[in-house]
Amino acid sequence: MTGKGCFVTDAINLKAYSLSESDKIMVLYSRDKGLMRCVAKGVKKPKSKLGARMDLFVANKLMLREGRNMSTISQAEALNTFYRTRSDMDKIFYSMYISEVVSNFGVEDDPCSASVYDILYEALDAVSKAESKIKILNTVLKFQLKIMRVSGFSLELDKCLICGKPIVNEKMFFSSKLGGVVCNICNENYGLHAIMHYKLRDYLSVLANTEFDETSEYEEKATEKLCNVCFEILKFYVENHSSKRLKSTAILQEVS
Ligand SMILES: [Zn+2]
Repeated sequence: MTGKGCFVTDAINLKAYSLSESDKIMVLYSRDKGLMRCVAKGVKKPKSKLGARMDLFVANKLMLREGRNMSTISQAEALNTFYRTRSDMDKIFYSMYISEVVSNFGVEDDPCSASVYDILYEALDAVSKAESKIKILNTVLKFQLKIMRVSGFSLELDKCLICGKPIVNEKMFFSSKLGGVVCNICNENYGLHAIMHYKLRDYLSVLANTEFDETSEYEEKATEKLCNVCFEILKFYVENHSSKRLKSTAILQEVS
């Protein structure tokens, strides 16, 4: 805290709305207070001090002044603009997807805000530094698995969700609703249709436990097709638990 009614926090810009001729409302995810809406005064003026720091996906150290309804940004110092993302359509679209998921799952005054912020920051950073489409996709998969875990929707990939027995190299089914895998025997009564191949399950399981700055052996051997199948499974899972429909996935479908 710095003085009465002022506070400092690291935050990433997720969305912006026009408020007036010169002002914008920013939707941010902050490390200390979770999801926030605040006013960026004068940001649309050509000589604004805030200017490009209020662009989408920029991470800033912000100084804010508390207001009755919304805080106002009084100073911003860019921490990372993720500049390599800005000239690459794939990177832009997947960064939009990541931002949209965080704005849907993020809550105000979230006690887990530091963990969510770090996942968001590291995911945007890894997307921006990725040297291939596969690297981008693997980053997004790690993001989906990690954000669901921190939001309390961890996927069960090792044991049958009904009988609890470990599932190894055998037939299994996947349930987005239950949040994981069901063994072949239990499924005789349960009746799921989505078969999950054990290699696909193993891949997701490895990614869930790999950091953004690590590359597992599995990832090096992965094909774009495998990554896309995993993305679709997790995208559906994320959407199933999201309060709002995700708009960016519709755009992703159009471009891929
Ligand atoms: Zn079972």
